[in-house]
Amino acid sequence: MRLILFGPPGAGKGTQAKLLAKHHGLRHLSTGDMLRAAVRNESPVGKEAKGHMDAGELVPDDVVNRIVAETLAEIGYDDFILDGYPRTVDQAEFLVEALSDQDAPINAVVSLRVPEEHIVQRLSRRRTDRETGAIYHLDFNPPPADVTAERLLHRSDDEPEAIRTRLEEYHAKTQPLEAFFRAHVRFLDVDGLGSLDEVQARIDEALRGPGL
Ligand code: AMP
Repeated sequence: MRLILFGPPGAGKGTQAKLLAKHHGLRHLSTGDMLRAAVRNESPVGKEAKGHMDAGELVPDDVVNRIVAETLAEIGYDDFILDGYPRTVDQAEFLVEALSDQDAPINAVVSLRVPEEHIVQRLSRRRTDRETGAIYHLDFNPPPADVTAERLLHRSDDEPEAIRTRLEEYHAKTQPLEAFFRAHVRFLDVDGLGSLDEVQARIDEALRGPGL
């Protein structure tokens, strides 16, 4: 199965992608995680990406397309869930072409709907476990007692100013993708509000349709 998880920053894409990957035996491909690893390793891609990421801007399409193309070639073009990619129409066109060359079309786009007023609150209270990559929300999905405060990372792009820029980038460049997806791929709308389990159950229900 080849899936895309789509939605605004803070919609829960990362959390739900991890669960979906685990339950359906898919590789979780997060371009955000790949780029953060590149920044940590101070690779050429990381050096190019860092300033954009800190500011909450999108990283240039050619940089992101390249790392996705390399990853898909490495894993064999199947059994994956893309999280945070594509984020522009150019990226989507690149992906659709790369996959059609391999006769491996996307089966579905799962779109997580979360109203804007919830997003800032979700992002500003989000924390990531540096050791396991697990994503928590300090109020709604708090870390277990054995995960110490020092292990919890507050992403620098989850500060208010970067959040604002990320939302602007989303509206200007990513939201228009919805029309592209609806025209080319099976598009599943899922309500992203509620507990992790509720949202997960809705995604599983949506994926139960024919042809998946
Ligand atoms: P995420 O972890 O998905 O929220 O991504 C964090 C940051 O990485 C974004 O704000 C962008 O700066 C960058 N990024 C991740 N995926 C993409 C993408 N597909 N296109 C451009 N920039 C991206």
